Amino acid sequence: EREAAVADAGKPAVTVDGQTIQVLANVGSVQDAVDARGADGSGLVRTEVLFGNRKVAPTVEEQVETYRAIAAAFGGKPITIRSWDIGGDKPLPFLPQAAEANPFLGERGIRVFRRRPELLRDQLKAICQVALETPVQVMFPMVTTAEEVAWALAELADVGSSGWGVKVGIMVEVPAAALRISTLAEGLDFVSIGTNDLTQYTTAADRGNSAVASLADALDPAVLQLIDRVVRNVPTGVEVAVCGDLASDPDAAVLLAGLGIHELSAVGPQVPLIKSRLRQTTLTEATKTAVEALTLPTATAVRELLAQRA
Ligand code: PEP
Ligand code: MG
Repeated sequence: EREAAVADAGKPAVTVDGQTIQVLANVGSVQDAVDARGADGSGLVRTEVLFGNRKVAPTVEEQVETYRAIAAAFGGKPITIRSWDIGGDKPLPFLPQAAEANPFLGERGIRVFRRRPELLRDQLKAICQVALETPVQVMFPMVTTAEEVAWALAELADVGSSGWGVKVGIMVEVPAAALRISTLAEGLDFVSIGTNDLTQYTTAADRGNSAVASLADALDPAVLQLIDRVVRNVPTGVEVAVCGDLASDPDAAVLLAGLGIHELSAVGPQVPLIKSRLRQTTLTEATKTAVEALTLPTATAVRELLAQRA
């Protein structure tokens, strides 16, 4: 089955009833991009992983070269470059951070750059430069308020993105962002739901602590309800994607399609299986499954429902 799926991987994922779902790949290296056979592009380039071993920040030119190589590996399909997402579990040697009592609730993602805007600006310059050659989107992580969105857009405008056609989005991984998405996402091109952190913050369970792993389950109906709410309340014309690990599970991919998500970004090796699975599904059935899942009491019950329907 995997072989057949891999053979068809480059074709689009269209459900039996005709809905195309974009299936993209998450990447943290140029090699990941090379390995992401058949993906419709990248919905998440983790730049803090790409440059995670640098003691000195990469120059604009170095970044341009690397982002260009990733875009080329995807054959010019769109790539979504996430701005530095550091803090919590992700240190960056070239940007040391003060110790914090609660790092996951502290200076993470976009929060870090309010004090260090020059590092973000260099990155945005590189992204805008690559966007002159190939379709590129930029995405900001760990956004909580509309004021942060306005700040990020102003930084982008400052480095001169206007007219360069870079699409702009944010990650939705903080429950407050999900709850006020209608105002937060105004003026953006897209939002991408990071189910790893959204689950962690919704369930108050550390995503890396195995003792609470059963609580930090992205299939928790509370997380699904937030995803549903984002899809329903996002301003008209703003695309909604999911790039958290939930999108890498073929059963969950069907559920997400049923919730109205038409763009999934998964770990590269799962892309062919997810596409193959979506091709055997009708959106009508997926929607029914999703509606039912939203009413269930536990992640376990959702998982059982998905297994039944598979
Ligand atoms: C997420 O939080 O779901 C996500 C995709 O970002 P990361 O796993 O890199 O924190
Ligand atoms: Mg995250």
